[in-house]
Amino acid sequence: MKVLALDFDGVVCDSLREVFATALATYESMTPESPLIARLRARRGAGRWHGLQFESDPVMRSFESMMPLGNRAEDFGVSLRALENFLELTDQGAYDTFYNTIDPEWLKSFHRDFYVQRDLARAFDTHGWLELHASYPRFLEILRRRAAEARIALATAKDRRSAELLLAHLGVGDLIPAELILDKETGVSKTAHLTALHKRLDVPFTEITFVDDKLNHLEAVAALGVRPVLAGWGFNTPREHALAEEKGIAVANFDDVERVLYGGGTDVRE
Ligand SMILES: [Mg+2]
Repeated sequence: MKVLALDFDGVVCDSLREVFATALATYESMTPESPLIARLRARRGAGRWHGLQFESDPVMRSFESMMPLGNRAEDFGVSLRALENFLELTDQGAYDTFYNTIDPEWLKSFHRDFYVQRDLARAFDTHGWLELHASYPRFLEILRRRAAEARIALATAKDRRSAELLLAHLGVGDLIPAELILDKETGVSKTAHLTALHKRLDVPFTEITFVDDKLNHLEAVAALGVRPVLAGWGFNTPREHALAEEKGIAVANFDDVERVLYGGGTDVRE
């Protein structure tokens, strides 16, 4: 492995709280009369969603469990709509069926407004916005310790400004050089990101390992010859781990990710 390429959300950064707050702000702006919003307001009070605590809220937990079933910002709206209707969407088929009942114009608006709400929250209180993001310290410690062994790149759907701010906030701003941050301007798919990386560094695909928490992204890049690894700590569940194994894609967790990525040694057990 010459290059270790990383997805950002769910691999390097735990962004669940920020995504949930941004999705709620978007949903409320589009559907102010929403019974789900009323339920959450009754429990959490008034104020900016980005400033409220949701740690043990069952709605956030259900939202989290649906995250692997979607791909884009509008999927957060789909999940909230499902929760408003007390629907448990536990597999891709049920999720896709529900998704197809929603007006495509509403989905488009949700997608656009989600990024508006995120920009507003970041501009209004940059420090508070950053604080909604957590790291995965066990993974970041391994990256730092083995940094000399492969170049580290980022392949993210975020904008460059957010990615750079967040990498610095998580304490790993020095591990990934600016030219190896491939952001949403590079393209919409991870295939576009990894193709750009392959060209930029003149490294064969087979020398690149890509860690993502989304199985469908990994399947796409595997077709290029990139080695795919599913980050089992990210936004996925045993449902995705089993599917990955069926497809021959390695699933790594904090105990064995160092061996899976760099080889050798024995797994760490707590
Ligand atoms: Mg991700």
